[in-house]
Amino acid sequence: MPLLDLQGPVVNRAPIAHVPAPAGSSAAARKFGVKPMPELVWNEDVARETAHLYERIKTVVPAVEWPVFAPYVKAINELKRERNAVILAHNYQTPEIYNCVADFVGDSLQLAREATKVKSEIIVQCGVHFMAETSKILNPEKTVLIPDSRAGCSLAASITGEDVRLLRDRFPGVPIVAYVNTSADVKAEVDICCTSSNALEVVESLGSDTVIFLPDQYLAKYVASLTKVKIIAWKGACEVHERFTGDELRLYRESDPSIQIIAHPECPPDVLAEADYTGSTAGMIDWVRKKRPKRLVMVTECSMADNVQAELPDVEFVRPCNLCPHMKRITLPKILDSLVYMKEEVVIDAMIADKARRSVERMVNLKN
Ligand code: SF4
Repeated sequence: MPLLDLQGPVVNRAPIAHVPAPAGSSAAARKFGVKPMPELVWNEDVARETAHLYERIKTVVPAVEWPVFAPYVKAINELKRERNAVILAHNYQTPEIYNCVADFVGDSLQLAREATKVKSEIIVQCGVHFMAETSKILNPEKTVLIPDSRAGCSLAASITGEDVRLLRDRFPGVPIVAYVNTSADVKAEVDICCTSSNALEVVESLGSDTVIFLPDQYLAKYVASLTKVKIIAWKGACEVHERFTGDELRLYRESDPSIQIIAHPECPPDVLAEADYTGSTAGMIDWVRKKRPKRLVMVTECSMADNVQAELPDVEFVRPCNLCPHMKRITLPKILDSLVYMKEEVVIDAMIADKARRSVERMVNLKN
């Protein structure tokens, strides 16, 4: 079906900036108290106690770097138990976070689903700000912390709640689907959310011949190629995935015709045309586990290839990957700061959170 691109704002506005609360000043710090900063030393005890964790990442993290990470890993895991906190980490987090301190890992949909089951009072979200907001929306009674609230996203920054209200005026009666890579303000204005795992299913669940899909123009195009539903797309883009090109992938294919290429649907159409498989980060991981290709180009954020490589060392990853600067704002020292000082707490206006929850829960509760 034809795809109508709206006049959107300039793609890749600056990421949303959040001013961190001073240590100890947040409601979370008053409620749970501030802990003393643990001693961070590398010695034989730390080496012994963290050896099993280094085993998980030894193929992707050089031994010379582990003495820097290990004291943080030990301190974070101890403090996490003391605080009864849980760490949710996105697939794009670095291997020492993903493999050594996270309790649950996954893509946006898996983390959103996990957030609804969490029993702990404190959630530390290792990902970008919209992910932490989604956890807070689903857990209004819990304390949700993000180690660096400046971790934004070019997609989330490309559209506001006011933009969605203008779309409603322009296309009355047309249902609006928002990719989860949006702010709470935007989620509050739409009919339902989706992730890259379930975008097609969500669009078709609405029973409408036309749907507004925002903010990712490339995911919208990908969905439009799979459905008869007419898609009206916002012109946002992921600054990481839109930089890949079909030309660079063709060069890899020419150099080794047996190479396998898998890509995320946030990539432009000429990239997806070169891919042997297109899917969400969780879909790509499942594909690699099942197919075990000899040589693989994984067209997405760099840390994901590292994390899959740590699990499957027999697969050779040929890397034309791009780093997400926002995901990389989350580091072990900042996670430790979060748990020591109870910062930075995610706070959402109750009325916006209630409205946004309806859109997220409608997605989470979709069958299949
Ligand atoms: S990889 Fe792209 S979509 Fe994901 S957080 Fe970074 S900018 Fe946003």
